[in-house]
Amino acid sequence: RTSALVKAKEKAEESDNLKTAFLANLSHEIRTPMNGILGFAELLKNEDLTKGNKDKYVSLIEQSGDRMLRLIQDLVDISKIESNQIEIIPEKTNLNSLMEKIYNFFKPQVDAKGIKLTLIKGLSNNESQIIVDKIKLEQILSNIINNAIKFTKEGRIDLSYSLSDKMLYFKIKDTGIGIPKQKEKIIFERFGQAENYKYSGTEGSGLGLSISKAFIELMGGDIWVESEQGQGAEFTFTIPYNPVDKEINKEQNRSEFVFPNDITILIAEDDEVSYFYLERILSNYNCKIIHARNGLEAVQFFNENPEIGIILMDLKMTGMDGISATSEIRKISTRVAILAQTAYASDGDQQKALDAGCNDYIIKPINKELLVEKIVKLLRMRNS
Ligand code: ADP
Repeated sequence: RTSALVKAKEKAEESDNLKTAFLANLSHEIRTPMNGILGFAELLKNEDLTKGNKDKYVSLIEQSGDRMLRLIQDLVDISKIESNQIEIIPEKTNLNSLMEKIYNFFKPQVDAKGIKLTLIKGLSNNESQIIVDKIKLEQILSNIINNAIKFTKEGRIDLSYSLSDKMLYFKIKDTGIGIPKQKEKIIFERFGQAENYKYSGTEGSGLGLSISKAFIELMGGDIWVESEQGQGAEFTFTIPYNPVDKEINKEQNRSEFVFPNDITILIAEDDEVSYFYLERILSNYNCKIIHARNGLEAVQFFNENPEIGIILMDLKMTGMDGISATSEIRKISTRVAILAQTAYASDGDQQKALDAGCNDYIIKPINKELLVEKIVKLLRMRNS
């Protein structure tokens, strides 16, 4: 018990030290770009400036502004992570294109430093069609590559990804200053930096890696570093490999069914995966989608968006269920098409849905072709 208390005390002290260091860094991190912005703005007032100098000052003000923005973005991310407000938004992404985009973005910067940058892609273009939160993945990679550039004076930075055991392994290896063994953990903690900031002279808040780690863990992966001080560092992180369903891919080329122009579809579904599935199928058609997470929201969103042409109503939702929501909506409109989606295959429930005012029903697991066919049929019926 005593040793547990001692450990807890040490941990609290460590976190307190990190916070104190962070506040000192924060002040430095804000003052440095502000110095650039205010200083060069002052110099710009000089009317005798040559065009060359003027352009240079403006560019330095922009760079300082960017640095400031990055810090603010990091602080916003950290507070969102602290309050559990980070949402993972998966979307269809071509990983090879994303990696090339990042490579091309950093190439000029790396060239300018005289360092070599390489990229090895571990999958064919087809296999690299995945479902992932593209924005967060880009943010993670950019952060780690930025660090690699920052801490490497000469040599090379090798960027690669590969697939193993249904996980994607991303590696960023540099020949920079490396990280002392005893700091390999702390750098992933909030405000944690390997060196005492005051002496390192490089910019940084110590937030980037802790943000990246939080994002990676939310996506179902892990991150670690292997390093030898003075010999460079190799960061590895993993995320699950979710290839785009080939059938959904094919669906994109289907043209037999065409939705009427600009149709708005309300999907009432409390299960995120089921919603995502419907959203993926419908994203191939010409429509706008609104997502309600329970019956109450379905009624509210329908009220607020009278242009909604069809509602895919899940019957079993927490709070107000689909049957009650349908009855409420029918009080407002008899015209909107309502397609019940039900996981129960008993006739009783289907009858209840029809009695409440649904026009038709579809049984889960939902067949893509049947869903689209039913939507087209209901929309035609509604318009005739
Ligand atoms: P920041 O770079 O803003 O300080 P990070 O959380 O991104 O914050 O990184 C934390 C610390 O980890 C850095 O300050 C640095 O000490 C160490 N670090 C990160 N990447 C590398 C690297 N490639 N080589 C050496 N040290 C690194």
